Amino acid sequence: MIQMNAFAQEPVELRQQMLSAVTRVMESGWYVLGKEVQQFERQWASQCGTTHAVGVGNGMDAIEMTLRALGVGPGDEVITTSMTAFATVLAILRAGATPVLADIEPDTALLSIESVRRCVTSRTRAIVLVHLYGQMRNMAAWTALCAAQQLALIEDCAQAHGALWNGTAAGAFGRAGAYSFYPTKNLGALGDGGMVVTNDAAIAETVLRLRNYGQGEERYHHSEVGLNSRLDEMQAAILSERLKWLPEFTVRRRRIAAAYRAGLAQSLITLLAEPDDDAAHVQHLFVIRCKSRDRLQAHLLARGVQTLVHYPVPVHLQKPCRALARDPHGLSRAQQHAESCLSLPCHPQMTDGEISRVIDAVNSFSIQHGTLRHAV
Ligand SMILES: *Cc1c(COP(=O)(O)O)cnc(C)c1O
Repeated sequence: MIQMNAFAQEPVELRQQMLSAVTRVMESGWYVLGKEVQQFERQWASQCGTTHAVGVGNGMDAIEMTLRALGVGPGDEVITTSMTAFATVLAILRAGATPVLADIEPDTALLSIESVRRCVTSRTRAIVLVHLYGQMRNMAAWTALCAAQQLALIEDCAQAHGALWNGTAAGAFGRAGAYSFYPTKNLGALGDGGMVVTNDAAIAETVLRLRNYGQGEERYHHSEVGLNSRLDEMQAAILSERLKWLPEFTVRRRRIAAAYRAGLAQSLITLLAEPDDDAAHVQHLFVIRCKSRDRLQAHLLARGVQTLVHYPVPVHLQKPCRALARDPHGLSRAQQHAESCLSLPCHPQMTDGEISRVIDAVNSFSIQHGTLRHAV
């Protein structure tokens, strides 16, 4: 089976580096909020070109704490996309704010700026922009809109580790960027982890307190109602090692995506728009669309290709979110995308042979269903 992820096939050298990182932490006798976290925070801030980075428990908490640090809470509206991981919207709800759901651009599945404009009210305080599937686009337009409307731009970078738009990293455009290091992300821990990156010292200071029960400089003195959301030493040490491999792994993801673009026959299936610039897409997921998606998925599974759907149910159709405010024009594009999208395997351990097998399996579906005019 060609899997969506194949951690067991990672290089032996990486495994040894992670083992020595684990040993280092064990022998240090210090497991929470120590020098491994500080070192990895410095490394990740430097990677993102921001002045601050604060390690937290996961990507969802990173968004919640960023909103809270910005003073966004009850009574405030936060606009985001209906086509995202549920965690994006859950974080807004956890911050006590009101999510407002906007529609997507059909050719990229990214948040539509026109739809967002229709969602803005006098209560709108922030936009959570999700760099879905690893794509960054139109950052100049987003920063301009937020500046003009006095809205805080928060970037959900959980799928965009290493992405650059015009030379600037994901997370460095907005007031803050939220990263997840969930194992399947482009930079993943061996458990949960997250990070808030920002150029705003006040946001960083607040998140430092919030992640640790709202405790300030003085131990056991709590100035606010915080969370327990810390990146632990073991995960930080492992992430420092894995970070060394990120550039090489990203190159590999781009190679796979390029091979898919060149090899997949577009008749029954369609591809998302190509990135304007390779650097602005880290190919976290390679997503295609197909009207008979479920049949295609079964066809691929029968040929040894695992696939997943990101995401089968848009946020506005999730039970706790059905009453949320949304674009007055509706969210039909997010819905159509949810009904037709399919993520093909695209991970750094894939071999050239596996890439070809995936391409052949997808193309055989088109041939079988008779719509492929010229066989490839
Ligand atoms: C994974 C993900 C999150 C949540 O990250 P966790 O670390 O699992 O909490 C948020 N937003 C997006 C777009 C994600 O892909």
